[in-house]
Amino acid sequence: MYILLMGPPGAGKGTQAANLVQKYNIPHISTGDMFRAAVKEGSELGKKAKACMDGGQLVPDEITIGIVRERLAKPDCAKGFILDGFPRTVEQADALDGILKELSISLTRAVDISVPSDVLVERATGRRICKKCGATYHIRFNPTKTEGVCDECGGETYQRADDSEATMKNRLSVYEAQTKPLIDYYKKAGLYSEIDGSQEMSKVFADITACLK
Ligand SMILES: [Zn+2]
Repeated sequence: MYILLMGPPGAGKGTQAANLVQKYNIPHISTGDMFRAAVKEGSELGKKAKACMDGGQLVPDEITIGIVRERLAKPDCAKGFILDGFPRTVEQADALDGILKELSISLTRAVDISVPSDVLVERATGRRICKKCGATYHIRFNPTKTEGVCDECGGETYQRADDSEATMKNRLSVYEAQTKPLIDYYKKAGLYSEIDGSQEMSKVFADITACLK
């Protein structure tokens, strides 16, 4: 099961990836984790990536692609993986095709968890986090018993700056612009499945597993 997981920030990709890991017993490979692992291992590419990140620069494509190649060639990926956060561009998608060919792997599906922007904005802007213990709440879907007070520890809850409406709208429009060409890319390849991510989590997961059959 070689799965590419797509979806805007806040679509619930993390939850669904965890469900997929459990069901298929394959690794969840996110770009961030991959970078951190490469840096920790101290591989040549990891060192180069670290130098870029430390300098506040974007990691160039050739390094990113190299790190993905190293990761996907590891034995735990032989039976499958859930790739998350890569590719982000058509150039990277082409590079991924090349890597998969080298490894004699064909992608099972590009699964896109799609959620309307207004729903994502509501999900994000309603999120509240406890300053003391980190518990998360939602003013509409999972409110604290007393407004602004953590149920767990009595700490004060707050809204992350990242979850403000303006930040969220901006992130979503950047995501959309970036992802549109990728959607077309995987549609053309006959691999694209759009999943309605505004449904209940369990229904979203059922739809994902159905499209993988
Ligand atoms: Zn708390």
